[in-house]
Amino acid sequence: MGVESNFYIMPASSGFRPEPEAIDSLIRNLQDQRYLPEGLNWSVGCAKASGSMDDLRAALDANPATDIQVRWRISDLASSGLRYPLARIPGSDGIYYGIEVHLVGDTAYRISEIIQPFDSIYCACGQEIEETPLPAGDRFGAGRLPTSCPACGQPVDYARIPMEASHPMTGAPESGHGGITYRCAVVVECGKCYPDYGTPVESGFISAIESVLGGELRVVQDFW
Ligand SMILES: [Zn+2]
Repeated sequence: MGVESNFYIMPASSGFRPEPEAIDSLIRNLQDQRYLPEGLNWSVGCAKASGSMDDLRAALDANPATDIQVRWRISDLASSGLRYPLARIPGSDGIYYGIEVHLVGDTAYRISEIIQPFDSIYCACGQEIEETPLPAGDRFGAGRLPTSCPACGQPVDYARIPMEASHPMTGAPESGHGGITYRCAVVVECGKCYPDYGTPVESGFISAIESVLGGELRVVQDFW
């Protein structure tokens, strides 16, 4: 276990998907602070695209309830001139990673070798909540949950639901709330090049995201 790792940085509430203007600001802010390189590649559902910030903004405006992934790949940290988004760099050279922004139609629900599924999910109205079908060509490696209760229409905040996980190295049980459930996440995709389990996200990177998405972000490191 622990062959690859991603870090998920999510708003406090699982149902929050920022407006296109806020996503635009988030990306510009991270580029200004040298956490993201220039250049933009994204997908709307299965359809890949690239272009300028204006092009991305048009795609965000036109698809407020569709899965959108914006993705950057850094093949060598040292030559990129960028700041690493985690508090410890996992080696001295050959450091690679990706940064992605995920915007989800329903609510993404990721389980893994270390993150258990919720036991059961009930709305306050008594309705049991079940997973919804995956959209064609899912790019997030996650299931989907309805953002609102299908019976009463009230939003469901999965971030408050107790969940069980296990330490990726020792297997010791760890409990928490919410797991990886979101409509918006900034994902640091380490692949096989990751720092020690429990490494914090670099404080400047968190601040840059907080300043746009609001405070009290949730951070979950996944292994598989
Ligand atoms: Zn309900």
